[in-house]
Amino acid sequence: MESAGLFIDGAQRPAASGATHEVTDPATGQPWLEVALGGAEDVDAAVAAAARAVGSWSRRPAPERAAIVRQAAAIARERHEHLAQTESRDVGKPINDARVEMASVADVFDFYAGVVRGFGGETLSVPAGGFDYTLRQAVGVVGLITPWNFPGLIATWKLAPALAAGNAVVLKPALLTPASALEIASILHDAGVPPGIINVVPGRGSAVGEAIVGHADVRKIAFTGSTEVGIGIQQAAAASLKRVTLELGGKSPNIIFDDADLEAAAVAGVEAVFGNAGQDCCARSRIIVADEVHDAFVEALVAAAEDFRVGDPADEDTQMGPLVSDDQRQTALDYLASARDEGATVACGGQVLDRSGYFMRPAVVDDATPEMTAVREEIFGPVVTVLRFGDEAEAVAMANDTPYGLSASVWTRDLGRAHRMARDIEAGVVSVNSNSSVHTGAPFGGWKQSGYGRELGLESLRAYTELKNVYVDISP
Ligand code: NAD
Repeated sequence: MESAGLFIDGAQRPAASGATHEVTDPATGQPWLEVALGGAEDVDAAVAAAARAVGSWSRRPAPERAAIVRQAAAIARERHEHLAQTESRDVGKPINDARVEMASVADVFDFYAGVVRGFGGETLSVPAGGFDYTLRQAVGVVGLITPWNFPGLIATWKLAPALAAGNAVVLKPALLTPASALEIASILHDAGVPPGIINVVPGRGSAVGEAIVGHADVRKIAFTGSTEVGIGIQQAAAASLKRVTLELGGKSPNIIFDDADLEAAAVAGVEAVFGNAGQDCCARSRIIVADEVHDAFVEALVAAAEDFRVGDPADEDTQMGPLVSDDQRQTALDYLASARDEGATVACGGQVLDRSGYFMRPAVVDDATPEMTAVREEIFGPVVTVLRFGDEAEAVAMANDTPYGLSASVWTRDLGRAHRMARDIEAGVVSVNSNSSVHTGAPFGGWKQSGYGRELGLESLRAYTELKNVYVDISP
């Protein structure tokens, strides 16, 4: 079995308690990595190291920080295959998906290394005799808390802008999948990020997560995870008025109009909800299809779902690996059973594979109605529900009939309708004739209970800075 320590103050170390945790390979159900299990004492050490280091890092000229972040991109490219293999093994992700994600890690570092050099404040108009400008300055020590589904990518979405803007970070990856965050920390270290600026403390939410959120010297929390935990973090952070950004769950609609390219929408619709075994905050898990094309579309959808290749994540042809844990698979199976009990039809899928690991066939649930549990709640597994609509107004109402608002897709060839839907859907991301939600240069995040704040783009860089106004009396 491989082993890894915490990463604090520029070096790996064991947990202060000496505790370790075995990380399971979801494709076999066997442990593959023994990782140091952090606790509150380790968070104290990490925050102290970050607080000592942050002043000199934030005062370095942006081009110097940018050069180090760009070097991290270069090293991430050199170590790309190793990173991808790690991520695939840790999460059970198909190797080709892991390769795409790990290529994006380098791209995100490159992006922030570039934009931070042109990033700054403004000069403002004030009455004669005054000169006024704003500064964008690092927040200080920032706590980053990430989920298990896209562990390397989501950590990088936070690390790259936070570090480029001059902050020091304490990152807590999910205990189910801590490996890539530790590897990315060592990439940043090797690229020249000084000791103390990046710290990684794997551990439980109730220990390490709460210690970070409660720490007096942490000024901001950037969290990605479930809505339930996000609400608790916002409440806990209120005690010290920490800045908080929250990227939370979703129950995203995929709306198919009668003029859509049904074949393309079916194939993309399957990828949009069964990719990463459905463990995707952006999963388009509510298909809302026009009455006129319902039967033809569902036929194409079921055919595409049945063609979706489930298997060993290390196999180049695999499109869907196992779920991350037995619990996660059981949750998906329970939602599927609830849909059946509440009167929906399971059109295909839902079988557990007869092999070790946490595999199941992706499931299409037809004849779903808006009040069903599987339609209302985030499943976070490979189960999609299909609802029907009559006209455009009903499609909008159904799309917005959810507490969430992360992303949405609309399939139509009618240009005006596409833009009306983009305007009327309550979500942070709307894709037209596409299921693509994430672009490095564009803001990504949610409305309503999908959270607030944005990852990626320039928005994210702003979120890792404080705004300062400077007024100078220049009267003669
Ligand atoms: P989770 O909320 O259970 O855990 C997320 C992280 O928070 C983990 O590191 C966990 O250890 C930590 N945590 C748990 N309790 C904590 C506490 N009390 N204080 C501080 N930290 C705590 O989520 P998960 O199961 O890891 O991930 C799945 C969820 O994440 C889904 O709801 C999914 O939609 C969401 N997600 C959202 C996005 C997005 O960008 N909007 C992306 C990926 C995942």
